[in-house]
Amino acid sequence: MNRRSIVITGGAGFIGSHVVRLFVNKYPDYHIINLDKLTYAGNLTNLKDIENKPNYTFVKADICDFEMMLKIFKQYHVDGVIHLAAESHVDRSIRDPFTFARTNVLGTLSFLQAARLTWEYLPEGYEGKRFYHISTDEVYGALGLTYPEGKLSDISAHEVYGDEFFKETTKYNPHSPYSASKASSDHFVHAFHDTYGVPTIVTHCSNNYGPYQFPEKLIPLIIKNILEGKKLPVYGDGSNVRDWLYVKDHNKAVDMVINNGRLGEVYNIGGFNEEKNINIVKLTIDTIAKIMKEEPEYRRVLKTDVTKISYDLISYVQDRLGHDARYAIDPEKIVTELGWYPETPFDKGIEQTIRWYLDNQEWVEKVLNK
Ligand code: NAD
Repeated sequence: MNRRSIVITGGAGFIGSHVVRLFVNKYPDYHIINLDKLTYAGNLTNLKDIENKPNYTFVKADICDFEMMLKIFKQYHVDGVIHLAAESHVDRSIRDPFTFARTNVLGTLSFLQAARLTWEYLPEGYEGKRFYHISTDEVYGALGLTYPEGKLSDISAHEVYGDEFFKETTKYNPHSPYSASKASSDHFVHAFHDTYGVPTIVTHCSNNYGPYQFPEKLIPLIIKNILEGKKLPVYGDGSNVRDWLYVKDHNKAVDMVINNGRLGEVYNIGGFNEEKNINIVKLTIDTIAKIMKEEPEYRRVLKTDVTKISYDLISYVQDRLGHDARYAIDPEKIVTELGWYPETPFDKGIEQTIRWYLDNQEWVEKVLNK
């Protein structure tokens, strides 16, 4: 792709900051513009290592501010977009659905309209342009759990908890206000492609994990509570299954899709890595207990006694409203068409993630107290 000026929205968030770092370092000839409102979930400390690079610009802006979006498209001669900005936490969407409709639906619409109005009046039109929208597997709704027991999977084993998977052709069936807002934004993206010819691509990714994830999502929240000796809340009986993908493997897919993905297409991205929430919690406890035993210098980050790190911390709480039983992706299309494959086995990825949080407690304090 010979793009020169790429806007990454939500670049100060979890996945966005990894995408920004990858593109700034890998494409020194591109101008990478990180457009972010800096909500509670957006933190520029995520990008300290690249903030002074000459091909990087940060713009604080709200995607709902249409006039501002138009200005940014014109000022930076934007020819590529990777749109990640969103409200992303399901529990928050249950408490406050309006904020999700505003940012995820109206914000995406405002950003799309700015792209369209800028691009369609250029002499070259949409030639060489890309509008890449990052969506979620949650828009497809829930799959059944037909295999009750399963072991922690690795990529070669690919244990599964059911015989159905989300494909690109699966019908939308969102259940939470979060997934409903993401589904609605997807429909606008497809409508802009079909109605105006905007060159769009959409991907649906499964649950990401890795460094810089805000400590309200399952894995970083569990790590934080273990280090503080607090209870580990597990919804229902912990049997809900998610398909976990290391964030850097997602980034690799994003890079392939914006460069080689076919316009107007949809690609599903999954980790070949289904696991029950309760097993994720147990694995996190086991990994931290092992690190504390074998590398006692890490005990400096504990705010509790090391002997408290056990399954006794697990506390089953009332199930999330409308909690989907199982998400599982069939990523065959992106594997066969673009040659993508997740490289990070789950046991390695989770240990790397836990070590990152142990080494970056200052970051945790900072983002929680900003
Ligand atoms: P995040 O909550 O960590 O980050 C979201 C970012 O968007 C933040 O930096 C925030 O400041 C910014 N933002 C929010 N509202 C904005 C607005 N109105 N204008 C400009 N910026 C705004 O989210 P994440 O987990 O990194 O997810 C990024 C994207 O990937 C989202 O679109 C999400 O739906 C999608 N996704 C996430 C996952 C996952 O497991 N985290 C899986 C699949 C898809």
